[in-house]
Order: sequence, then structure tokens, then C-alpha cells
Amino acid sequence: MTKGKRVDTSTVLFGVFGNPVAHSMGPVMHNAAFKKIGFNAVYLAFRITDIANGILAIRELGIRGVSITIPFKESVIPFLDEIDEDARCMGAVNTIVNQNGKLTGYNTDHRGAVEPLMALTSLQRRHVCILGAGGAAKAVAFGLKKKNAVITITNRTVSKGISLAHQVGAAFVSMDDFETARPDIIINTTSIGMTPNQDQTPLDKRFLHPGMIVMDIVYNPLETRFLKEAKTAGCRLIDGLSMFIHQGAAQFKLFTGKDAPEPVMRDAVLQAMRKV
Ligand code: NAP
Repeated sequence: MTKGKRVDTSTVLFGVFGNPVAHSMGPVMHNAAFKKIGFNAVYLAFRITDIANGILAIRELGIRGVSITIPFKESVIPFLDEIDEDARCMGAVNTIVNQNGKLTGYNTDHRGAVEPLMALTSLQRRHVCILGAGGAAKAVAFGLKKKNAVITITNRTVSKGISLAHQVGAAFVSMDDFETARPDIIINTTSIGMTPNQDQTPLDKRFLHPGMIVMDIVYNPLETRFLKEAKTAGCRLIDGLSMFIHQGAAQFKLFTGKDAPEPVMRDAVLQAMRKV
């Protein structure tokens, strides 16, 4: 919402569609950013049961932009007028922009993953090991591949890990053979370590070495056991909020055409997380 203005008939509507969606930090993040840049807009959370009806609502209500989250990132695609190339390659949409009634689907998740890494290092030919093979792993792998990283995937369900590895041109290694992977960067994309299981970690600490970059995309808690052990081992760390804020910042640019005030977005989410 705008600085010093109230919601009125010219307020622009944005939102997130998902199910469940009550936990989403999207409203906190985007509303703080709208306020910071003085844009008369509001971003709300909508629990959707039928994505086809959700799309009709965008068209009928003139909702300007929507974030798409679980479980609709793939099923939304047939209802859109145009799909950006990255989203098409990934087979998943996390952002819809409504431009005068034309709905275009984008995916900013892969940027959320690689931009925090690129602030620390080039990804060209770097060896990256991804723990997990779910939806988030796919976005992370796609982003890394675009930057010419050399990727190895490991996953509890071997068939899913091998399938993702084939899709993105990566190698697969079982957890038992992890020591053969020798990565420069390790990224946890599993939900292991997330509240209420914060005593768990996706990888034995003997695989963590000084100088490695270790990223966890779990952000609840912000300092997971995996990151704590990586810190003790002398690794460089990237927390889960970094991916969330970077994908949100790319989304904000698509929604408004303006650069996102990332520090304001991160502070707003951190403050909201402390209250939960
Ligand atoms: P998903 O599609 O359900 O995939 C879950 C992954 O975690 C699978 O690889 C699964 O392995 C693995 N896994 C789950 N529990 C496990 C366990 N007990 N032991 C071993 N492996 C386990 O979920 P997703 O959408 O990829 O999300 C994964 C996590 O990332 C969630 O915690 C989510 O909140 C977080 N996330 C964060 C961001 C961000 O912006 N920071 C963005 C997206 C997601 P199997 O294949 O063997 O089941």
C-alpha cells in the first residue's frame, strides 16, 4: 500500500494463488515493497481450489499480477495466453502478469536460486551438488544449468533423482557414494531441517569442508542445523530467505517494471517471521 495514501478505486490488485497459502510471506514482502516505492497497490493471499476459476477471476477482476505456488505451478499453464521461454523449459509457472487482459506466465524461482550464489562466485564449470529432486530442485538445477555449472543430484528416492538428472543433463550419485561427488557448492532443496524437525540435517557434516559454499533453501528456521554445521566447518553460507527474496524481487520487477527494494523486502519478512 502507498505511503500516506489509502486503498481507493485506483488501487492495483496483486496476489498469490495456492493451497495452502496461509503461511505465505508473499503479502508481507510485496506490500512492504509497494509501500517503499509509493505504488498504490495491494497484494493478497487467495486459497484456490480450482485453478481454472482462479484464472477467470484474474481476468474478471483485472488482477494485475499473481504469484503461483503449490500445487498449481504446472496445472496453471494451459489456462495462460503466453508462456515465457524459461517457464516453458521448466514446465512450471510461478508468476502471472496481466497486461490489458493478456496473461503471460513466467518463472522466477531459478533466478532466486542462482543470484545469491553469483554474488559469491562465478558458476561457470563449478561443481554443484543438489540434495533433493522435487519442484524446488528442478528450478535450482535449471538456473544452474543456464550458468554452465556442473551438476550432481542426490535424492532419497533414486528413480526421481535419476529422472531429474536426465532432464537437466546432470549426474546422479546415491547418498552412499556422496564422497565421490566432491562439490564446490552444496544446495539443500529437501525439506529436511524445516520446523518442527529442526534437529535433522540432509547431509553428514563430514562432507562439509572449509571454503565450500553451502546453501539451504529451507528458511524456517533461518539458521538450519545444516547451515550451523557448515558454519562450524568453515563454509560460506547462503540462507533460505535469499532464494525467496530474489525470486520475489524478480517477480516484483515483472509486476511493476521497477527494481525491487530487496533490503526492505527481506527486513519485512524477517520481522514477520519473528512474530510467528
Ligand atoms: P517437493 O517437490 O515435495 O520435494 C521434496 C524433496 O525433499 C524431495 O526430493 C524429497 O525426496 C525430499 N525429502 C523430503 N523429506 C525427506 C526426508 N525425510 N528424507 C529425505 N528426503 C526427503 O518439495 P519442494 O517444492 O521441492 O520444496 C522443498 C523444500 O524447499 C520445502 O521445505 C520448501 O519450503 C522449500 N522451498 C523454499 C523456497 C525458497 O524460496 N527458499 C522455494 C521453494 C521451496 P523424495 O523424492 O525421496 O521424496
